[in-house]
Amino acid sequence: MSIARFWRETPRRYNLGGSKCTNCGTVYFPPRSVCPQCTHHRQSIEKMVRSQLSGEGEVLSYTVVHEPAEGFEMQVPYVLALVKTPEGPVLTGQVVDVRPGEVRIGLKVRATFRKLREEGKSGVIHYGYKFSPVEETNGGLPARGPPVPAPESLERPRSAAGA
Ligand SMILES: [Zn+2]
Repeated sequence: MSIARFWRETPRRYNLGGSKCTNCGTVYFPPRSVCPQCTHHRQSIEKMVRSQLSGEGEVLSYTVVHEPAEGFEMQVPYVLALVKTPEGPVLTGQVVDVRPGEVRIGLKVRATFRKLREEGKSGVIHYGYKFSPVEETNGGLPARGPPVPAPESLERPRSAAGA
């Protein structure tokens, strides 16, 4: 399969494609066909346009999940967060590539597409968005800091200090 064809056939859920009400400016994700804020006055009919979310956001609140949902057994503890996007919608998703203790309110994150879960019997793999921290305060160093020396390198006897 060609790359172009692959992308054409990529389901829309791989994109953060929302919708925007051009009447009041509210952005929705998942996309809506009418605007709840405007429908009372029928102002949003024919006023909804596609609106792509940037994938940027910041953690509004989060919880560390220790009891796994079915299909998440290999991933506990994991962090489930509400992420406020600059476009407006608040998304729910798992925060990955970070230790649970490092997640905080206000953490800048970016949506990334990952394997979400695998159904045990059928083996069907679900993909969707998760959030990964956007490092901006450490000058581009790896999020987890320098590697820790292996214990044996600390305990190796010095050749000059032989008995
Ligand atoms: Zn509206």
